[in-house]
Amino acid sequence: MNSLLHHLDRMTRRRERGLLVAALLDALRDLTDAEQADLFDVIGTGDRLHLQRHESANLGTARRADADVLPANRISVLIASNEPAPLLAVGPAGVHQLWQCLRAEQGGGTVVRLNRARPFSADDLELVGGVLQIFRNHLAQIEYGETDSLTGLLNRKTFDSRFDQLVSECLPQDASGAPEGSERREAGPVQSNWLAVVDIDHFKRINDTYGHLYGDEVLILLANILKRSFRAKDRIFRFGGEEFVILLRSTVPRHARIAFERFRLAVAAQDFPQVGKVTVSVGYAEISTASPVVILGDADRALYYAKQNGRNRVCRYEELVKVGSLRPQKVSGSVELF
Ligand code: GH3
Ligand code: MG
Ligand code: MG
Repeated sequence: MNSLLHHLDRMTRRRERGLLVAALLDALRDLTDAEQADLFDVIGTGDRLHLQRHESANLGTARRADADVLPANRISVLIASNEPAPLLAVGPAGVHQLWQCLRAEQGGGTVVRLNRARPFSADDLELVGGVLQIFRNHLAQIEYGETDSLTGLLNRKTFDSRFDQLVSECLPQDASGAPEGSERREAGPVQSNWLAVVDIDHFKRINDTYGHLYGDEVLILLANILKRSFRAKDRIFRFGGEEFVILLRSTVPRHARIAFERFRLAVAAQDFPQVGKVTVSVGYAEISTASPVVILGDADRALYYAKQNGRNRVCRYEELVKVGSLRPQKVSGSVELF
């Protein structure tokens, strides 16, 4: 019991995802006396579902067993149920496995696996189910605090507290911008990460003409277009009233422009109830080694340029500087001005 309380305390005092998952796996492994605990992301669809290892906790002696021991039909059973039920299996070399869904979401999910030499008992299953449920509850609390209640996007508080960390995760790992361990690409555009600021055009007019309730409805629909327009690994924040920030990951310059243009066009094509047509302006900049505040300032200046030059358009900071439409931002000593 003491050890259970100790692990629950360790797990629920963490908020950062990586530490939280590490504490969960450590707790599950220790409490069930398993040799190994792993977390896998479920990738793919239909009969092409497979598992990709996310994180592991093991005893020094444990081997990293093969991740793909569960066939696609069993993975889909594991992540299909609303009431996650454990799945018992026997893996390579007769190792007993306990599988359980941690989180099911559209098009995938996350599952946990425990490996042990002896079979799992009914008490083990109950214990694992209970710890996972406490983990889910804790995560739901964290996510509630990170989310904007109107749009369901990440909120400004999360932007402020996680921005530096997210941007540093986005920085190229080597001079070529190629992910670690990958081959250096042949000549050609390299993948970068991008930061965009989006602002609705003439939003005051919408509020003044139709009232705040319709204004809020526009914000909700616009957030839905944002969620549909970008990939799961990108991050979207409601930055202020009718301003949004997008962190777009690992894309060549041409595709970044295409993605932002596609979003702009999707907004322009939508019929908003009562209000009719709405447009957005977008300013964006490459996430370089400059400090986050400078990158945000660059994207903001490109947005301002878009506003001054007709609205309903996407402008990239580096291009505006190249053609002389904007002057590079001055950075004085360690204090960035914007
Ligand atoms: P511009 O094209 O230059 O961006 O013009 P604009 O009228 O959109 O100007 P601005 O971006 O400065 O307008 C922000 C307006 O957004 C002010 C306020 O009336 C409205 N707003 C801010 N937050 C909310 C909100 O939560 N709900 C609603 N309905 N309106 C909001
Ligand atoms: Mg604004
Ligand atoms: Mg606006």
